[in-house]
Amino acid sequence: MRLFGTNGIREVVGDRLTPEFATRFATAVATICPVGPPIALGWDGRTASPALARIVSGTLVLMGHRVVELGILPTPAIQWSVPRVGAQLGIIITASHNPPEFDGFKCIAADGLEATRETEIRLEQAMSAPPPRSAPFDRLGSSRHDEGGAARYLEGILERVDAPTIVARHFVVVLDCANGASAVTSPELLRRLGCQVVTLNGHIDGTFPGRPSEPTEANLTHLARTVPAVGADLGIAHDGDADRAAFVDATGRFVPGEKILALLARDRLRRGRGGVIVTPVTGSRAVEDLARELGGQVVYTRVGSPSVTHAMQERSALFGGEENGGLIFPELHLARDGAMTAAAVLDLLAHEGRPLAESLAGLPSYTMVKLKLPLPTDRREELLTGLTRALAAPGAEIVALDGVKSVRPDGWVLVRPSGTEPLLRVFAEAKEPARAQALAEEGRRAVEVALAGLV
Ligand code: MG
Repeated sequence: MRLFGTNGIREVVGDRLTPEFATRFATAVATICPVGPPIALGWDGRTASPALARIVSGTLVLMGHRVVELGILPTPAIQWSVPRVGAQLGIIITASHNPPEFDGFKCIAADGLEATRETEIRLEQAMSAPPPRSAPFDRLGSSRHDEGGAARYLEGILERVDAPTIVARHFVVVLDCANGASAVTSPELLRRLGCQVVTLNGHIDGTFPGRPSEPTEANLTHLARTVPAVGADLGIAHDGDADRAAFVDATGRFVPGEKILALLARDRLRRGRGGVIVTPVTGSRAVEDLARELGGQVVYTRVGSPSVTHAMQERSALFGGEENGGLIFPELHLARDGAMTAAAVLDLLAHEGRPLAESLAGLPSYTMVKLKLPLPTDRREELLTGLTRALAAPGAEIVALDGVKSVRPDGWVLVRPSGTEPLLRVFAEAKEPARAQALAEEGRRAVEVALAGLV
């Protein structure tokens, strides 16, 4: 049975995510891992995460494994710790930016990268097999707490930016932690970078009382009002597990994730004199324009950070990431990293010596429109065939890497079934906002036509 989506297992607590489910998951991990090197375990600030962590840790110990408990940390901080505590596998208990009723599991390989689909398939098979015997009383494993995760991670980031130059700028930053795991790392990171930090939603609370956990423009209105009100240089917001960062400029205007990706890509292409940038098929054409100008190359992948990070590893990429603000800095590690994104943007602003809005103004200008539509069928293959037909147009190139992307001379539209929810996502991009809107509408009509063709 398929349990892992594009970003691990995410289920509703008390519905599918029960103590029995958590035990079955931990037993499966214990089965596929040889007894020997430890298994690292960290979790986010969701209401069920600490209890799920006890079940997972206890089950692994009863199956004979050694467990290193890292406590509440951002997902990238756990990924950073896995190789550094010598673990053979890492488990993260998180549901990232999902609504508060969700929680879930994500697995990290020994090198800190997200586990491959092969590992997930082995886990899914082990979860549906009859459970093996647990260890006898004299061959139990053990668990220990590791308090060093946050400090270790912050050192890693601070060593990879020009901290003295950032500190000298005395930035004023409003930081919105979404009541999530970043509360244990990002305020301290910004203080160590010499910033005056105003923190919103800075205590951990898995009910997400401040705002929904996804850092979208609609969810960041409080941040957008606070930044100009306190005279800050910029605002930074994380999602619940802090593998993403979103930004607002000094006037309080939200900066779409694809613009931050393009801004940092330009900086890195200039400094590296070219190089490979990896982004999913949802990536902005602005990055292609920059790569052409600066001697770089864009490699597109399927949606989902495992696809991006593994392609980055294969191609020795300079930089990569997703248009939702999940950016990956190979000089630190091959993981989406919200705190590193914050530090990298401050580094760029400190060196460019101008406000964020001015740095962004020089980028190739595109507008991206995103729509979510209901997906009332599970006949995905037939739907994709119908979409391919509906999105064909004179001069269009169809890309079938993930969903159906119709690339036109003046823009593109992509329709793909979501990997985490029963939805179809439509992405469209063009230089002119009206054209981007028209392409998105074309995507919507293509969905109607393709769905009508199924009956
Ligand atoms: Mg996340």
